[in-house]
Amino acid sequence: MEYFLTEQTIKILKQILQANSDYMYHQEDNLKQFSKVQSPNATLVMCCDSRAHTTSFTCNPENNFFIVRNIGNQYILNQGCVEFGVHVLKTPLLIFLGHTQCGAIKESMNNYSHLPSSIIREIDHLALSIKKSELHGDCEHKWASAVVNNVNQQVELALKDFGLLCLNKKLIVIGMVLDLDNSMGGGYGKISVININGETDLAKFTNYEGHA
Ligand SMILES: [Zn+2]
Repeated sequence: MEYFLTEQTIKILKQILQANSDYMYHQEDNLKQFSKVQSPNATLVMCCDSRAHTTSFTCNPENNFFIVRNIGNQYILNQGCVEFGVHVLKTPLLIFLGHTQCGAIKESMNNYSHLPSSIIREIDHLALSIKKSELHGDCEHKWASAVVNNVNQQVELALKDFGLLCLNKKLIVIGMVLDLDNSMGGGYGKISVININGETDLAKFTNYEGHA
């Protein structure tokens, strides 16, 4: 091994540590409040994509979101982590947040056999969850529809395990999509709720307006 860092690496590390100094300065009082125990409001399953972040909906993710990330925001891949959030931390919300332009979703729709086996295993679950018969239109449209389709499937999978908690009003499972490319027409970065406890016709929720 060579003990040598590239200039680019040094620059990135410096940026990280400088940003951390700023963070410590501004957040010390906030962090002290929950330094011994966490009590998040939601278990959040989201994609690893570098363009999708909690900054799209909160300035204070600390102690608010117990976050599980994997490619394609999947339940099964990190079932234990999700169960930790729901059963141990008892978050009242379980959110699956998909996003448009999701590379994992795109791979799952095509031939991905050339990828390393460890990646194939993770995409296999996505390929199974996406109902391709429900996808219509050109490639871009099918891709965006598959993102929505996958979020709905993840909610369905989670409800198989958490349905009773939902029935007893201890948990609500929500499906959402972050629109990175404005393909849904609401603007770049718009988050839409598309599924609540397995229901996609949100007009049925008379006390939910939802259209921010
Ligand atoms: Zn993604």
